[in-house]
Amino acid sequence: MNKVHYSGFKVLKEALTGHKGWKPVWRDAEPKSSGYDVVIVGGGGHGLATAYYLAKNHGITNVAVLEKGWIGSGNVGRNTTIIRSNYLLPGNEPFYELSMQLWENLEQDINYNAMVSQRGIMNLIHSDAQRDAFVRRANSMLFAGAGAEYLEQDDIKDRYPFLDMKNPRFPIKGALSQPRGGTVRHDAVAWGYARAASDLGVDIIQNCEVTGFNINNGKCLGVETSRGDIKANRVAVCVAGSSGRVMAKAGIKLPIESHVLQAFVTEGLKPVLDNVITFGAGHFYCSQSDKGGLVFGGDIDSYNTYAQRGNLPVVEDVCSGGMAIMPMIGRARLLRSWGGIMDMSMDGSPFIDRTQVDELYFNGGWCYGGFKATPASGYCYAHLLATDNYHDVATEFKLDRFLRGAMIDEKGVGAQPNLH
Ligand SMILES: Cc1cc2nc3c(=O)[nH]c(=O)nc-3n(C[C@H](O)[C@H](O)[C@H](O)COP(=O)(O)OP(=O)(O)OC[C@H]3O[C@@H](n4cnc5c(N)ncnc54)[C@H](O)[C@@H]3O)c2cc1C
Repeated sequence: MNKVHYSGFKVLKEALTGHKGWKPVWRDAEPKSSGYDVVIVGGGGHGLATAYYLAKNHGITNVAVLEKGWIGSGNVGRNTTIIRSNYLLPGNEPFYELSMQLWENLEQDINYNAMVSQRGIMNLIHSDAQRDAFVRRANSMLFAGAGAEYLEQDDIKDRYPFLDMKNPRFPIKGALSQPRGGTVRHDAVAWGYARAASDLGVDIIQNCEVTGFNINNGKCLGVETSRGDIKANRVAVCVAGSSGRVMAKAGIKLPIESHVLQAFVTEGLKPVLDNVITFGAGHFYCSQSDKGGLVFGGDIDSYNTYAQRGNLPVVEDVCSGGMAIMPMIGRARLLRSWGGIMDMSMDGSPFIDRTQVDELYFNGGWCYGGFKATPASGYCYAHLLATDNYHDVATEFKLDRFLRGAMIDEKGVGAQPNLH
């Protein structure tokens, strides 16, 4: 096995010798003709994390991750890198708190620098009613051990003098802060999990698109792919924005719509924002990368699409959200923007569940909050695949919750994908 260890000494040695000694960090495997115990469809953050925890926590190493493109080409490498566990509802909060705890240990666990930065996240408050709602949320977070602080106007003004505190439409009245929230270098998460899973024996197979499922008498026996059929005792789908298209190949219709979400980064600026800031009266969130770029995003483009590129009206909408709270952003030049396809569920919450086809499992519906969920999603999906029982913090993410009227409607906006 091709193990690469990182250390300060190795980095120094490579810097002095022209960086010629680095090796590929995971094996480029060929599909096994004998098949696998578990085939994971989708090599994004969730698929790779699932493979890693299957191997590490459950000793199941005869596993393949099938990725139609390359590792990191999906949303895991396209998001705005924000992590947090500032949820309200019991179905969600313990799950995201487990994820936060896994983030806090991730780099040691997988021996990979994922640049986990708990710089804090601050949700701005613009009305008295919103203050009440956020204080309620803060209490729920405190009960769950997630930690929360209420910031007064003056605290915010002292720390971020560039914020428009007295905007006539959206005055900043306070903020809900989670000091343990922050950012993580997104593609490093994919590479780190890929390397750690590969080291434990998982086959990572890139350029391998799943084109169908081999289903006989209601039981999934494997997948059809662009590189031939692959047998599996259990098939675990986690393809994020492609959920609807992929599950349709198994005859399954999901309560999910796909939309594009865009992200933006400015030219490098001097350090100005040491936190993540979110606008409370619209969709805008912003942090500053280590290279100095302001990284920000907002709402989804509201039409359904599978294209990984968005349109100009949302660019204007997101930038006007930014201007409403931090007018100085109008002086920065936009360097890049990109889009990713979001699997928007109808109540804004995800699924980690079995399906009506035996041995076929589904993970998706992460909307635009699935990056922070990556570790816990992999952890709990692996638990379900290995034990056939739901993990304690993921008992509510079932596909039939709309039939039972047991939605996890975190924001109280119902079946409105563009509001989640
Ligand atoms: C612009 C943007 C900003 C975001 N910001 C945040 C944020 O700040 N915080 C946060 O928590 N979340 C954020 N998200 C959401 C988050 O990125 C996603 O919810 C999460 O990454 C989805 O899980 P994943 O990593 O497994 O997805 P992906 O990386 O998309 O993985 C799915 C993989 O499945 C593969 N696939 C698809 N079809 C097939 C097939 N037929 N066969 C084989 N493979 C297939 C795809 O190629 C892809 O690599 C953001 C998303 C976007 C696009």
